[in-house]
Order: sequence, then structure tokens, then C-alpha cells
Amino acid sequence: MANSIWTIEEFTCPGCGMNYTATKEDHTEQHSGSFKCSICNGVVHTWSGHHHFFGWTAVKTRPPVFGRRWAGVEW
Ligand SMILES: [Zn+2]
Repeated sequence: MANSIWTIEEFTCPGCGMNYTATKEDHTEQHSGSFKCSICNGVVHTWSGHHHFFGWTAVKTRPPVFGRRWAGVEW
């Protein structure tokens, strides 16, 4: 089996503050892609390089009120 390294990374949607985790896998070849939020359809993360992200999972750890604060673009 290939000696691939997987790491879990966390991302926060800039649109609605939803948190996601994704598994990052290192590749020898170039990959590019993007992940869109399933709530607000905003782009959570885009990547290109010698890695790939998969297994996107929504994390529901924060109550909605707290999530709003994270989205805080209303000044
Ligand atoms: Zn969102």
C-alpha cells in the first residue's frame, strides 16, 4: 500500500460561518478543485497543487448565534 499521508483540516465558510472538515491527501500529481458550502453555496475553499481534499463533512459544534458572529460582515 502506498505510504500516503492524510491530514484533517478545518475550514469555515466565509458566507454563513458553517464549519467543515476535509481530509487532505498528498499527491505526486497536480490537482485542483473547490468546495462549495451546502448551506449558502459560497466557496469555502479552493485548492491547486500536489494535494487533494475529499470527505467534506459539516461540523455542527457551534450554535447558530455564534456562527453568525463568525460571518460578521455587517458593520
Ligand atoms: Zn456557507
